Amino acid sequence: MRTKFIIITGGVLSSLGKGLSAASIGALLEARGLTITFLKFDPYINVDPGTMNPFQHGEVYVTDDGAETDLDLGHYERYTHAMMSKKNNCTTGKIYDTVIAKERRGDYLGGTVQVIPHITDEIKKRIFDLTDDQDLVIVEVGGTVGDIESLPFLEAVRQLKGDVGKENICYIHVTLVPYIETAGELKTKPTQHSVKALREIGIQPDIILCRTKYDLTEAVKSKIALFCNVEKDAVITAKDVETIYEVPLKFHKEGLDEKIVDLLNIWTKKPDLLKWEEIVYNIKHPEKEVTIGIVGKYVDLKESYKSLGEALVHGGLANKALINIKYIDSEALEKDNSIIKMFSELNGILVPGGFGSRGIEGKIKAIQFAREKKVPFFGICLGMQLAVVEFGRNKIHLNDCNSQEFNQKTAHPVIYLLEQWKDQRNLLQKRSFNSDKGGTMRLGAYPCFLNENTFSFNAYQKKEISERHRHRYEFNNRYLELYEKHGMIIAGRSPDNDLVEIVEIKDHPWFVGCQFHPEFKSKPWKPHPLFREFIKASLKFKEDKKGE
Ligand code: GLN
Repeated sequence: MRTKFIIITGGVLSSLGKGLSAASIGALLEARGLTITFLKFDPYINVDPGTMNPFQHGEVYVTDDGAETDLDLGHYERYTHAMMSKKNNCTTGKIYDTVIAKERRGDYLGGTVQVIPHITDEIKKRIFDLTDDQDLVIVEVGGTVGDIESLPFLEAVRQLKGDVGKENICYIHVTLVPYIETAGELKTKPTQHSVKALREIGIQPDIILCRTKYDLTEAVKSKIALFCNVEKDAVITAKDVETIYEVPLKFHKEGLDEKIVDLLNIWTKKPDLLKWEEIVYNIKHPEKEVTIGIVGKYVDLKESYKSLGEALVHGGLANKALINIKYIDSEALEKDNSIIKMFSELNGILVPGGFGSRGIEGKIKAIQFAREKKVPFFGICLGMQLAVVEFGRNKIHLNDCNSQEFNQKTAHPVIYLLEQWKDQRNLLQKRSFNSDKGGTMRLGAYPCFLNENTFSFNAYQKKEISERHRHRYEFNNRYLELYEKHGMIIAGRSPDNDLVEIVEIKDHPWFVGCQFHPEFKSKPWKPHPLFREFIKASLKFKEDKKGE
């Protein structure tokens, strides 16, 4: 079969869950036996989201090949088997960067370089680059129709229909159908306006996905169909749901996947959705409950830890448990000692990744509590580094021990800036404290060897693993022996033994700090082993405490 295309645009306002819709459509088409991949276009000028503040733009998602991407790629990987890479996320900045470099090389032979056709051709090239062996490419155009920034992308996907033929492309527009209390009605006007704006730039949507609080009545669907010039069965209710993993099932019930394959003239089997039914059933019928404290900077919490939140849900699924998350502001904890009292409610403590010195001492306090009071602890990236600092200060009594990220001149740089490191291709890279922020991190998947008789080996049940990284600082091997002597266990290392990837401590129910980000590889049907075991240990901690 020739590759076909699904284009997803958004209207009315942002945050309508376009990414989740794209991921859910991917899940449904995969369940019908089709192979799919995704492309997310982001209209901002940054070349990638790596240098963007997560508070403004949400989490930076990292792929195996070390791309720092939009968080929607996380949804795509969690919902499907598609593997995301550098090729699957592209910004305006990246497009212009390429076009300007070509212009400087003289590739345009003296021609005037313009948005149409040069920028739009480059955009289309990114789409065509993904067609290898795929039945479908799902393209999500970020931003909202009407934004200046997204115009070149919309123009490019408009042209695509002419390039590939109308039977090979399907346009889906995601809009909002608000419920107005005073009128007691669902309103279709914003959708009408949004589709009008889309048609003005030459795109007639084939399907309209309506985000709504209530089911659209037949009358509302007819009205949208009439005004927006689509078939009535192409108006799909996308009602708010209890769990995001219910979205594929709801879309299927509304006939969305059937409509897509019909429009694209693809013959497939009926989708097998048993996996999704089980996930949703288990999320809605937990047998136990557990409370996990996530200690982070207030502004970072929630949106910027999307994958982390999902990985915890998956860990809960593996244990048939509901996860209650308590966000603990590390800056408040730093200033106010009484907050630690709240910790008695927690069954597990997690310190996630992060950058910058704000709130660091609060996180260290939380880790000390977890270590001393034997509460299950999971430290991820920065969380692992701070576990090493805490251990150095309070267990080994190394005065003024720190990570060089927070004090370059610390007497005991137990976490330090590795000035030379090997990237994924095994090429030597260099950085210093003054290096640029972009492109100086250890990024993407690296192998790690586990030692037996550790919490980590027990979780993975294998010796070699591969996990994704995004950091500059590392454990300082000068302190290795000292740490081991005092009871820290190095559970995982890089294959050449140079880098410490996982630390654990003895005589503790579960204390694991990993230099990588396991949350990027967890899926609802394949919970990550470390999250599964962390939740299991937290449940046990809760049970044991009850028994005391
Ligand atoms: N800031 C730390 C580093 O750069 C940790 C990064 C992270 O948690 N992702 O090494």
